[in-house]
Amino acid sequence: MPQRVEYLLIGGFASAYCAAELRKLGADGDILLVGREQDPPYERPPLSKEYLRGEAKREDAYVNPASWYEENGVELRTGTNVMSLDAEARTAKLQGGDEVEFDKALLATGANVNILRVDGANLDRIHYLRAFGNSDNIRADAEKAERVVLVGGSYIGCEVAASLKSKGTDCAIVMMEDVALSRTFGEEAGRWFHDLLTSKGIEIHGGETLAAFEGDDHATAVVTESGKTIEGDMVVVGAGVKPDVMLAQRAGLEIDEENGGIRSDETLQTSVEGIYAAGDVCSYESRVHGRRLRVEHWDVAMQQGQHAAHSMLGEGKPYEVVPYFFSDLADWAGLEYVGPATDWDEVIWRGDRDSGEFAVFYVKDGKVAGALTVESSEELGHARTLLADGVDVAGDKAKALLGDPDSDLAELTSS
Ligand SMILES: Cc1cc2nc3c(=O)[nH]c(=O)nc-3n(C[C@H](O)[C@H](O)[C@H](O)COP(=O)(O)OP(=O)(O)OC[C@H]3O[C@@H](n4cnc5c(N)ncnc54)[C@H](O)[C@@H]3O)c2cc1C
Repeated sequence: MPQRVEYLLIGGFASAYCAAELRKLGADGDILLVGREQDPPYERPPLSKEYLRGEAKREDAYVNPASWYEENGVELRTGTNVMSLDAEARTAKLQGGDEVEFDKALLATGANVNILRVDGANLDRIHYLRAFGNSDNIRADAEKAERVVLVGGSYIGCEVAASLKSKGTDCAIVMMEDVALSRTFGEEAGRWFHDLLTSKGIEIHGGETLAAFEGDDHATAVVTESGKTIEGDMVVVGAGVKPDVMLAQRAGLEIDEENGGIRSDETLQTSVEGIYAAGDVCSYESRVHGRRLRVEHWDVAMQQGQHAAHSMLGEGKPYEVVPYFFSDLADWAGLEYVGPATDWDEVIWRGDRDSGEFAVFYVKDGKVAGALTVESSEELGHARTLLADGVDVAGDKAKALLGDPDSDLAELTSS
């Protein structure tokens, strides 16, 4: 006999938040949370930060203590793949052969790292970072290494470099962009982080495309298309991720051709009634942005997991939270960001960049499209409101307010 549950939650992090929210909202039906990984659902940000540096325990990253699931009547099956989903019959086949019937389902299957298939890609000591095991292996190899080469100038490459360097290991970043973190923050703001990293002794090779990894048994160098050889005892690659839509695709759910995620509506419901998506895999219609979004942020996965619970219970409200992202570079700079701004006409700085406390507003068509803050969280709430409400900041007075650190941004948000 197949197992029958009201709620089938597939994934890890976002699913755990969905389960907790369902219980908080008083849903008393059976909940089954199935995840491929061995650990109970956990947060990934520590894997490039305090966990990688050996400053936090594995359990610290767990969304809930392992005992929480039983205490709250949530059946947790870890180390179990959901092999297939029949969206019409509302059944799922699990690894091992068990079958589950469900009323509502959440697909929060996350993302997989992009693997760089160049010459030498099979050498030892080439690491990617997504799961606990990856972080464990990087730390173990880094403890023996004198120098690590990071491929990629986005947040994984930069954060891992910062973490390892802060522990005394030399690091070199090789990246296609000229300026670190510029893909998200633009060259001007990216330059601030780029200079911070180099001031801490991290070598950066910008404008370089990876051609090959070199080494005998393990990687000892990265070679670029321009002919540069950057030597190290190991490599960590941070070359972005792809949403894991395999299960959804096989089940016939609509996939967004542009961003690769599971196509969902404003309430996070997919193309099949009663089946929802959340987190890295979710391409949702954002009323706030007036466009489709798929975002790979911790906060978004958490909030969408919770929102999916509300939608499952029939609330039918749109998901309208402005995406938020945080990062630290070995605690050298606490950055926060709301957006996402994909392009902009103007960048307005607020505060003194030399002091290491500032905000940057990205303005597009006279509206705030995104904002970055460094050690300056108070601007973030205002930025969120300016973005969500589409406040007009095209005039000189508004721009002067945005750029003046002594001004009160409430003047813009309350008018
Ligand atoms: C090293 C690292 C650092 C990060 N740092 C930050 C940060 O500082 N700030 C920030 O905002 N974001 C950060 N992120 C991003 C953030 O962690 C993700 O956005 C978040 O984990 C997404 O959650 P999710 O639940 O959508 O997916 P995931 O956390 O990836 O969980 C999805 C789970 O589903 C499982 N799964 C997939 N298919 C199946 C299946 N068929 N059956 C069963 N299980 C399946 C996967 O194995 C996985 O365990 C970081 C990510 C990484 C990797």
